[in-house]
Amino acid sequence: MSTTSKLPELFGSKVFNEDTMKARLSSISYKAWKACVTAGETLTPAIADEIAESMKQWAVEQGVTHFTHWFQPMTGVTAEKHDSFINPVGGGKIIMEFSGSELVRGEPDASSFPSGGLRATFEARGYTAWDPTSFAFIKDGSLCIPTVFCSYSGEALDKKTPLLRSMSEVSRQALRILKLFGDTDAKRVTAQVGPEQEYFLIAKEDYAKRPDLRFTGRTLFGAKPPKGQELEDHYFGAIRPRVTSFMKDLDEALWELGVLSKTKHNEVAPAQHEMAPIYSDANTSCDHNQLTMEIMKKVADKHNLVCLLHEKPFAGVNGSGKHDNWSLGTDTGENLFRPGSTPSQNARFLLFLAAFLKGVDEYQDFLRATVAFAGNDHRLGAQEAPPAVISVFLGDELNAVMESIIHGTEYTDTGKRTLEIGVDVLPAIPQDNTDRNRTSPMAFTGNKFEFRMLGSSQSISGPNITLNTMMAEELSQFADILESSTDFQKDLAALIKKTFTDHQRIVFNGNGYDDAWMVEAAKRGLYNLKTTADALPVYIADKNVDLFVKHGIYTHGEVHARYEIHVEQFVTVISIEATTMIDMIGREILPAVSACATDMCERADSKTAMGVSCRYETATATKMGELTDALMDACTKLEADMAAMPADATEAMRYCQDVIIPDMAAARAATDAMEVMCSGDYWPYPSYSDMLFYV
Ligand code: ADP
Ligand code: MG
Repeated sequence: MSTTSKLPELFGSKVFNEDTMKARLSSISYKAWKACVTAGETLTPAIADEIAESMKQWAVEQGVTHFTHWFQPMTGVTAEKHDSFINPVGGGKIIMEFSGSELVRGEPDASSFPSGGLRATFEARGYTAWDPTSFAFIKDGSLCIPTVFCSYSGEALDKKTPLLRSMSEVSRQALRILKLFGDTDAKRVTAQVGPEQEYFLIAKEDYAKRPDLRFTGRTLFGAKPPKGQELEDHYFGAIRPRVTSFMKDLDEALWELGVLSKTKHNEVAPAQHEMAPIYSDANTSCDHNQLTMEIMKKVADKHNLVCLLHEKPFAGVNGSGKHDNWSLGTDTGENLFRPGSTPSQNARFLLFLAAFLKGVDEYQDFLRATVAFAGNDHRLGAQEAPPAVISVFLGDELNAVMESIIHGTEYTDTGKRTLEIGVDVLPAIPQDNTDRNRTSPMAFTGNKFEFRMLGSSQSISGPNITLNTMMAEELSQFADILESSTDFQKDLAALIKKTFTDHQRIVFNGNGYDDAWMVEAAKRGLYNLKTTADALPVYIADKNVDLFVKHGIYTHGEVHARYEIHVEQFVTVISIEATTMIDMIGREILPAVSACATDMCERADSKTAMGVSCRYETATATKMGELTDALMDACTKLEADMAAMPADATEAMRYCQDVIIPDMAAARAATDAMEVMCSGDYWPYPSYSDMLFYV
C-alpha cells in the first residue's frame, strides 16, 4: 500500500476511536460513553456490555483473537496479560465472547509489581479498570484496553490513576478562575502535553556482544572514540538510508495506532535521533509515549538495529532526554498560556503565569524529584542537559513585563514603544515570545512550558502529575482570594504583583550551564539536588505530601509507597550495573588484557633474542601490567563494597551514591585506559567507534 495516498485511512486504523464508536455503537451507548468521558458519568453494565461486544467485533474483523488490559505499573513500562475471546459452548465448539465486565474490570496477579508495601501479599491481587478516556487499540494481534491499576482497597498502583486524578483537579480549579473572568462557556480545562523523544540506534550484532548494554541499557566501559560530536555534523544532518527506512516504518506503525508522530531528525550525538508527536491531552500523550517507546524497539529489531532509550548509553557524547511540553487548554479551544489580544485575556494570562511561577518555586524540589533516577544522574548538570537546579526561563520581553509589574513602572518594549496598558494597571503582552534558551530546565516557549529535565526512558506521567497538581493548588489559592473580592480588578492586579514579587527568584533567563548560575542560584536559596540520592528524600517532605493529599491525587500511603519504589529502583539499577561490571571484568576484560600483555612479553622476548629493539612491547606490557593490577584492585574493592550494602533502602541509596558509583568509576577508568592499548583482536567488545559510527 502506498502510505502517502492512504495515510488518512491508515491513521488510527488500529484504534477503536471516537469515529469508530460513533459508527458502530447504538446512539444511546455512544452518548453514554461521551457523557462518561466529558462529564464523568458512570456506564451501566448494559452499556458496558454493548461497548465490549462492539469492540470485540471490530477487533475480530481485523484478525484479533485476544484481549488484554494494558496498564502502567510503577516499573515505568507497560504491562499486559492476554486472554483469548474463546468461550466453550458444548459439542467441542467455541464462540468468541467479550463481556462488559471483562472490559471494565480485570484481575491480573499483581504480586510481582512494585507496590512499595501498599498491597499486602495475602491479597496480592491488583485490579485493572478500563480508562474510557483513552481509546482501545490493536497491537500484536491483541485488543489492548488502556486501564488503571489499583489494589483491592483502591490504592493506585500505577502511573495512570494519579495522572487522571490530577487532570480533573487542575480542570476544576482552573474553571473557578475562568468563571471569575466571566467565562462560563468552558466546561473543562485540559492539561496538554507534547513529549519529544530522543533515542539512539545501534547495530544489533554490536549490542549482542555487549553484556553491559543488554543488562543495563548503557555501556559501563568504552574508551572515547577519536571523533565524538565535536564537529556537530550530526545534528539536523542528512538522515542515513538505514535510519530513514527505520523512521518510515516507525511512523507507519505509530500512525496506525493513532499516535500523531510529526517531527523526526538527527540529534546532537552520533547515532542519536528524535521523534516528536503533535501534542494531545496529558493522558493520551502518556499512553502514546509509552507505546512509542515500545514500538521504537520493535521496529528497530526488524531493521537489525537496537533502539537504546537509556539516558546515557555512551559516556562522552550527549545522552537522551525527553522534553515535556505542557500547557492548559479549554474545551472551547483557548490556550490559557497564550498571551491574549484583549486586556482581559492578558490579565488572565498573567494570572496563570503567576500561578505557574509560584507553583514551580514552591514545589521545585518535588519537580526535581520526579526526574530523579539512576539513568538521569548522568545527564543533569553535565552541560548537555539542564542543571539539577530548577528555574523558569521567560525570555526578555515577558521578563520585562514582569519587572514592570513588580516595580510599578511602565512597560516599554525594546523599540521603546509604550504598549497599551490593559485592565487599568496591567500591560499588554507582546505576542512574539520566541526566545530559545536550550539551557533552561523550564522554558516558556510562547504558549506552553517546556520541561527539559526528563530522561528519555522515563514515563512522562510523574512530572505531569506534579505540574497539574501544583497548578491546581496555586489556582485554588488564587480563586479563594478573588472569589471573595469586592474590587476584582484591583485585587487581581495586586495578586499578580505580589506573586511576581514573591517568586521572582525562580525566574532565570541566562545560561543555565554557567558555573556562575550555580553560585547565584545558591544565593537565591534555590534547591540544588545534584543526584537521585539527594533528590528523592524530598518526595516525602511534609509540604509535598500535603499538596498531593489535599488535592486527592495520592493518599499519604501512596506517596510514601512511591518514594520507597523509587529508592528501591535506584538501588537495584546501581546493583545490577555493579554486578554486570564485576562479571565483565572477571570473565572477559582481565583475561583479555592478560593475554594481550603476555603476547607483548613473548614478542619482546623473541625480539630481544634476535637483538631487535622492543621498546613498544616492553612499555605497553609494563603499562598494561600496572593497569591490570589497578583494575583487579578496583574490582575487588567493588565486590567487597557490594557485599557490605546496607539493608535499609534509604541508607543503601546513599551508599550506592557515595561508595558504589565512585568504585565503578575507578574500575571504568582503568579499563578504558587499557582498551586503547589493546589490539582489537583481544578486546572482547565492539568499541565506541564501531557502535556510534556504524548505522
Ligand atoms: P521545539 O522548538 O521545542 O521543537 P515545537 O513547536 O516543535 O517546539 O513543539 C514541540 C512539542 O510541543 C510538540 O510535541 C508540539 O506538539 C508540542 N506543543 C505545541 N504546542 C503545545 C501546547 N500548547 N501545549 C503542549 N504542547 C505543545
Ligand atoms: Mg523542544
